[in-house]
Amino acid sequence: MNIISTRGHEVVSIDQAIIAGLAPDGGLYVPQQFPHYVMDSFYKYSNLAEFAYPVLTPFFSGSAIEFNQQFCDEVFSFPLTLKPLASNRYVLELFHGPTLSFKDFGARFFVQCLQALLKGQQTKVLVATSGDTGSAVASALSGKKDIEGIVLFPKDKISLRQQAQITCWEDNIHALAVKGTFDDCQKLVKGAFTLGSNEHLTTANSINIARLLPQLLFYAYSSIQLTRTEQALINFIVPSGNLGNVTACYWAKQMGFPIGEIRIATNANHVVSDFLNTGTYQPRQSVNTLANAMDVGNPSNLERVRHLFPEMNQLKHQLNVESVNDGQIKAAIKQCYQKYDYLICPHTATAYHRLALIDDEKPWVMAATAHPAKFEEVIEPLLDLHIAIPEQLKVLLAKPQRFQTIEPDDQSLSGLL
Ligand SMILES: *Cc1c(COP(=O)(O)O)cnc(C)c1O
Repeated sequence: MNIISTRGHEVVSIDQAIIAGLAPDGGLYVPQQFPHYVMDSFYKYSNLAEFAYPVLTPFFSGSAIEFNQQFCDEVFSFPLTLKPLASNRYVLELFHGPTLSFKDFGARFFVQCLQALLKGQQTKVLVATSGDTGSAVASALSGKKDIEGIVLFPKDKISLRQQAQITCWEDNIHALAVKGTFDDCQKLVKGAFTLGSNEHLTTANSINIARLLPQLLFYAYSSIQLTRTEQALINFIVPSGNLGNVTACYWAKQMGFPIGEIRIATNANHVVSDFLNTGTYQPRQSVNTLANAMDVGNPSNLERVRHLFPEMNQLKHQLNVESVNDGQIKAAIKQCYQKYDYLICPHTATAYHRLALIDDEKPWVMAATAHPAKFEEVIEPLLDLHIAIPEQLKVLLAKPQRFQTIEPDDQSLSGLL
């Protein structure tokens, strides 16, 4: 498949795009054209790994990666679960992987691609995390030969369980607590790529196209599953921070999957809604919220969405964003539990807030991006209950933690590369 940068027209291969992460012109890699499919052929699948193979195969034409059914079976070894909440209302649980967030899909897919491309060459994978990416990537990389993982997280700004899941891995994983915000971490990662030699450096942030490809399956697969019974286009609400997950949803729609409206829920970091309102993009320092994996003041993937909808009025028409504050997040967690006996994490709560305001007969799906047990510090006192800890989390919490604290400047990081 031909891949281009959002800022240029030079064509690269999918392999080059995965290895580089960010394009040399500073842009993000996107497919030059999306594959077109005969949708009818997809209705027979009821297993994600089997569905993934034909859907993603066109992206790997000409690739050195042997993209086959076995590749998909290894990556998609845990389910994606679609549950009814009420009539025409569904929740898409994306949190059944090893670190209990949707990031496990992208992280595992990316690492599998990278290993296939490196063929034993030594590499370092850098990743900035506002919570869940770091644990997913560390989990996917832990113990892998020839690859080191360097995970930067904002010190004291993620939950204790999130931190435990970043710092508990094998010796090839280096966890760095940065005295700053997620945006500082992301800046350090971007900076590392502009600092001289970086041949053996890549990034696993959602800027890497290999993180986005498996995410489009969430929407492709669930829309196909649901249209069989709903006989209508399926509408989604996606909790968003860096906009990677929702970009994948737009891509799935572009590819022809039966997707209707896409709504975006952000937390109090409202740069995207401000941009749509004012027409001027004004990145900001992120503010801390209960949905911390969405605390992003300068969402990278907005550039991919703008590339898809280059005209401002087109963008305004396609992007439906609402910012949901902490008070509304708490109220949403409460209401969802009381009304449906269903526990949601603070991120999913932003989507629930929007879902609860919809009053139509169309099928709506909210993406549930993390397991509530990762955010017990928020949920347990709020609802006065104890959340059962899933087995995979129990195992990680019992391991010793290891991390180093660094200043938020390029020198501190370059010394470690
Ligand atoms: C990363 C994350 C998000 C935001 O996803 P983006 O792709 O950055 O928009 C939402 N919820 C959870 C639980 C996350 O970990």
